[in-house]
Amino acid sequence: MQFIKKHIRGIIQLFIFTLVLLISINHNLLESGGGISWFSSASLHAVCPFGGVVTIYQLLTVGTFVKQIHAATLVLLVIVLLLAVFLGPVFCGWLCPLGSIQEWIGKIGKKIFGKKYNTFVNSKLDRVLRYFRYFVLVWVIIITARSGEILFQHVDPYYALFNFYTGEVAIQGLVILSLTLISSLFVERSWCKYACPYGALLGLTNKFSIFKIKRNKNTCVTCKKCDKDCPMNIEVSSKSIVTDLQCIRCMKCTSDNSCPIPETVDIKF
Ligand code: SF4
Ligand code: SF4
Repeated sequence: MQFIKKHIRGIIQLFIFTLVLLISINHNLLESGGGISWFSSASLHAVCPFGGVVTIYQLLTVGTFVKQIHAATLVLLVIVLLLAVFLGPVFCGWLCPLGSIQEWIGKIGKKIFGKKYNTFVNSKLDRVLRYFRYFVLVWVIIITARSGEILFQHVDPYYALFNFYTGEVAIQGLVILSLTLISSLFVERSWCKYACPYGALLGLTNKFSIFKIKRNKNTCVTCKKCDKDCPMNIEVSSKSIVTDLQCIRCMKCTSDNSCPIPETVDIKF
């Protein structure tokens, strides 16, 4: 039981990653006449909740979906948003396969660089770069609304990750995927921090989610273990409530994980 409690997030991340990988491979095999017919025939676009975001404008104005986007993405979007209203961006910290693979590569980076890992970007530059993902969000919504196509897929590392072997991924998508994976050896979740449009949107729910990460000032001994373990470099030890837009609700800072003092950091109503 203790094992499952400690590793539940990792188990869920691995399960979702494997599921999306199998869905994507099966879809590609079915298109070329192979695959398993009773297993999902859905494409990667059909299981991506961000598709629901970019299709909203066209759905409201013309009443149709953007090319390749399915109604299922709207259902997924509603589920993810409801989860986020209650628990914050748990999609990022627990479910997103692109977030998971960056985290797994980051474990290698931690082995190589030890305490220096995830501290390489100058703090002033880091602060500026973190605004870039909002620009990407607005840009993606505008280009999709104007074209009626998911042009973002040409630069999307998520699409490239699960389709790199098909010959359908644009060279710029492969370059951005490579940059994302290689930079994860130095910076934890570089794509999430600096460029992910979906992370930018879901991060906003950190301000108003019903449950939030809270730190008990009275029992905290200021050891700063929570700060060191936060993948998004949030200074948990200086906050009573974490409302930082970059928190991904990974729960690494909590007393179940990093914090050595029981019931000091927890997710609370
Ligand atoms: S503040 Fe805590 S829950 Fe939020 S990203 Fe950092 S470690 Fe994860
Ligand atoms: S790990 Fe716990 S005790 Fe240490 S600074 Fe963070 S909240 Fe305080």
